[in-house]
Amino acid sequence: MRRLPVFFVLDVSESMAGDNIRQLNQVLEGIVKSLRTDPHALETVYISIIVFAGKAKTLTPLVELASFYPPRLPLGSGTSLGVALDHLMAEMDRSLVKNTAEQKGDWKPVVYLLTDGKPTDQAEAAIKKWRDKFSSRASMIAIGIGQYASVTSLRNLTEDAFVLTATTDEDFARFIRWMSQSMSAQSRSVSAGPAEKVNLAKLDDSIMKKIEEIAQAAQVDEDFVILTGRCQNTKLPYVMRYERIAPEVMRTAQVNAETVLYNLNAVFPLEMDYFDLSDDRVMAKSVNSNMLIGAPGCPHCGNSIGFAVCSCGQLMCLRGTGEATCPWCGTVGNYTMAKENGPGMDVTRSRG
Ligand SMILES: [Zn+2]
Ligand SMILES: [Zn+2]
Repeated sequence: MRRLPVFFVLDVSESMAGDNIRQLNQVLEGIVKSLRTDPHALETVYISIIVFAGKAKTLTPLVELASFYPPRLPLGSGTSLGVALDHLMAEMDRSLVKNTAEQKGDWKPVVYLLTDGKPTDQAEAAIKKWRDKFSSRASMIAIGIGQYASVTSLRNLTEDAFVLTATTDEDFARFIRWMSQSMSAQSRSVSAGPAEKVNLAKLDDSIMKKIEEIAQAAQVDEDFVILTGRCQNTKLPYVMRYERIAPEVMRTAQVNAETVLYNLNAVFPLEMDYFDLSDDRVMAKSVNSNMLIGAPGCPHCGNSIGFAVCSCGQLMCLRGTGEATCPWCGTVGNYTMAKENGPGMDVTRSRG
């Protein structure tokens, strides 16, 4: 039986923490559940899961649909699209069966790439390599999740580039249907013979739009600040998300509209494998703590202070004032509360 390999390349950067990663998990589960009721898909579809943040990793090598089980998705720091593409191309070279005189190889593989951010690496070389060497023998469907996704690089990568504007669970159920129907259609058409264009189900434009022109792919400035802290007691990381307060709101509160302030929006515990997927280049961007409103407790150990700043610029949790060791750099410091009208502290931002 010839295989139809389907690669999912999923962005698991910190900005995906919370709803996005939960919905991504639901998408995988939903697609698998739906495809298993389709005999064509059951016969041909093989699935592989690749995740990327600062680094890329294969979580599931190509496996037949019947024995595929969606893996737990980890999170990391960074959005290295170039690294992800290089990893994907190496994985394809390694795992695909080629057509030879003796054997019939795999059907033309399909790649679903999902990302919510701007690449934090130089992705141009990898995009060019994909276009030159892979785009004729594999179909790439690139989907930007939400308004902050870098649609320019997705559109440079493939003509089948989309923006997903789904937000509610209901929207995501419709997205799952679109993905499943597209994959079902593809599994039927490969059985009938090779097709040039990949089969995609009819677009539901209430949840997604095709990116037609590169010019159309304007960039929106991100309105979030993502920070990563580390627990003093468990050494585990956690992510804090701050959302920018809209200028309109600032005006009605009679604050100078030029002032940029961010409100604490959520805090999520992360696992140790965060460090495996994060790139370890020095992070240059920082934010002043005076621009941030609200500070969470530690989601791992329950320490009431989750926002203590070491002299290295990194964040950690604290039980209270006094001596403590930074879980990032090992420096022992004496911690006091920041002054009400003080200058604030510069905190290292995550790559998001
Ligand atoms: Zn803690
Ligand atoms: Zn430190």
